[in-house]
Amino acid sequence: MQYKVPFVNYPAHYHSMKKELDAVIEEVLSKGDLILRSQLRQFEDTMASFVAVKYAVGVNSGTDALHLSLLAAGVGHGDEVITVAHTFVATVAVIVHCGAKPLLVDVGEDYNMDVEQLEQSITPRTKAIMPVHLNGRLCNMEKLMDIASKHNLIVIEDAAQALGASFDGKKAGSFGLTGCFSFYPAKVLGAAGDGGIVTTNNKEIAERIGLLRDHGENRTSGDILCFGFNSRLDNLQAAILDVKLKHLPQWIERRRQLASLYHEGLSDLSELKLPPAPQSDTSYFDVYQNYVVRSQERDRLVAHLRESGIEILISWPKPMHHHKALGLGHFHLPVTEQLSDEVLSLPMYPELSDKQAEFVIQTVRNFCT
Ligand SMILES: *Cc1c(COP(=O)(O)O)cnc(C)c1O
Repeated sequence: MQYKVPFVNYPAHYHSMKKELDAVIEEVLSKGDLILRSQLRQFEDTMASFVAVKYAVGVNSGTDALHLSLLAAGVGHGDEVITVAHTFVATVAVIVHCGAKPLLVDVGEDYNMDVEQLEQSITPRTKAIMPVHLNGRLCNMEKLMDIASKHNLIVIEDAAQALGASFDGKKAGSFGLTGCFSFYPAKVLGAAGDGGIVTTNNKEIAERIGLLRDHGENRTSGDILCFGFNSRLDNLQAAILDVKLKHLPQWIERRRQLASLYHEGLSDLSELKLPPAPQSDTSYFDVYQNYVVRSQERDRLVAHLRESGIEILISWPKPMHHHKALGLGHFHLPVTEQLSDEVLSLPMYPELSDKQAEFVIQTVRNFCT
């Protein structure tokens, strides 16, 4: 079906900067600069300064950013890692792939880890905490970092949805031992395919991830220092991302404008719960990776929106711990479970026009009133 308001619009995104992108793609391809070249180093430098950390290491996905971070931090068999179930499955998969055990805690009304429940989950085997900054809003990192340092735990931030977001002026990806970002096309900064990056202030960790992403090989000496992976960020993707990063602040501004429009148009509807408006709490700077609302009539509302030509996504209609194959059924997470029945994501991307947003608002209003 051709939606009047699609959930993402990749062609419009490309056409908004076609000249710049075409030029850089041509340059990279005609020089043959494909693997670990200057464009990658350049992008890593720009990303490190954007997040305000010392190092950034490009990898081939957000999932690998998380996985290699855990490995570099020495997480393995016998360790436990605390995270949430209300996240993309990759957050938990990488813990299992390291041989460690995931401990899932519930989320709060902001969809992020309920830090009040964090401390009671910690056991002598707990080695790390992986907060997820969901939908472009940070976890309460002040409390979380306090608990982590009190119990001497490593923090790996899943910042895949929060590039550019901050808490008390400090950017996502600059709190933990590492910050992990994804450049999946639908993320606030999207590649022309898959990509990811690890940010850190720790030199050894940056070097370790540099080795792990490239077969464990020191490219200068030729020595193989560990068994690694093939998880490099393609040089072409890095060149494209470096062009796009220059536009990111403006795209984030546009997302925040759209969030304000949605807020103005929908906040009087008592049957909907909206995310906080952009200026409502000055501790948080949100980037609205997703605009997630809650409704007790979720399924009927979604059907109404889809029939009206608005594409809607539900993240996630089934709580992760209810997927039997994953063996996580022993967790009881009432807020996570309730959210699965109530959340829906409205279209949210810089190319969404005011007119389209107004149409979404009007269509939601028609359903509610
Ligand atoms: C997108 C995402 C990931 C995984 O990133 P990929 O680049 O797709 O591997 C991990 N965690 C969260 C919260 C995400 O949104």
